[in-house]
Amino acid sequence: MIDYQAVMMGSPIRLSLSQENPQRARAVFQLIKQQEALLTVNRDDSLLMAVNRAAGQHPVVVPSTIFHLVSLALQVSLLPGSLFNLAIGPLVKAWRIGFAGRSPPPISRINDAMALIDPHDIVLDAEAQSIFLRKCGMEIDLGAIAKGYIADKVCQYLHEQQEPYALINLGGNVHTLARPEHHLWQIGLRKPFASPQTLSARLAVSGRSVVTSGIYERFFLHQQRCYHHILDSRTGYPLDNDLLSVTVISESSLIGDIYSTLLYGMGVDESLAWLSHHPEIEAVMITRDNDIICSSQHHFQCHVLNLKQ
Ligand code: ADP
Ligand code: MG
Repeated sequence: MIDYQAVMMGSPIRLSLSQENPQRARAVFQLIKQQEALLTVNRDDSLLMAVNRAAGQHPVVVPSTIFHLVSLALQVSLLPGSLFNLAIGPLVKAWRIGFAGRSPPPISRINDAMALIDPHDIVLDAEAQSIFLRKCGMEIDLGAIAKGYIADKVCQYLHEQQEPYALINLGGNVHTLARPEHHLWQIGLRKPFASPQTLSARLAVSGRSVVTSGIYERFFLHQQRCYHHILDSRTGYPLDNDLLSVTVISESSLIGDIYSTLLYGMGVDESLAWLSHHPEIEAVMITRDNDIICSSQHHFQCHVLNLKQ
């Protein structure tokens, strides 16, 4: 086993390959860079920003892979009661959490953004493979799912290259190719708001994705309140509930990424009820009291390490 590291998408990236292969590692990092250049909204020159800049003006034709990704994100956003919203961009930019934001934006700024985040105003044309945002100022933000999408692409590439086993960690999004003879991958879950080395639990998986959505990575404190980066389209403020993080264990990292954000928004009880009908998706939730709740453990093992210390 050998590790390769890089810093991309604002996060440290780690790739573990079964044996030394710098060429393959370079190809993987190149693939990540290429995909990020399509999907980021933190730089003006991405494909997604070209779609956003044309808001209120004209549709933009995109490659079919991106069209499918946006279609899926729109579908999830339009589910009844969904707290996932791919049109959340203007609100994300108003808060600037994880960037320069240090205090809540003025209410007028939030209200202006709220007028521009209705996913019904996104028009997809399957024949033309184009995306059109009806109102000027609208912005698609795929920050909640881009890493999952890219992690799947990396694993698909490594599988095609017949890499026997591998792990990619895109900073919170981990995906694994199966290891032989039940040597499971060990993945640490950080204890929320503790030092980065302190773990709450260790998960053992093989051939699965492990994605965490937590409120302790990107947030700011203002007048003793914690404002984090998962926003509620209904209020214009960060979602407020009983959870510090949700980790989803699933076959696809894209699905894991969608559901880590969705389940975070649903809270403990609703999430457990939903997961009981979807055994292919499993989750570990850490509550505000630092309780660790597993929905089921069919495809992974969870070793709790640091209960309430
Ligand atoms: P991370 O891996 O950075 O913790 P998440 O998967 O939890 O990210 O998604 C958070 C990101 O998703 C935010 O930084 C923002 O770009 C975007 N986002 C914020 N609120 C929502 C929302 N309600 N629906 C969809 N995307 C959101
Ligand atoms: Mg997510």
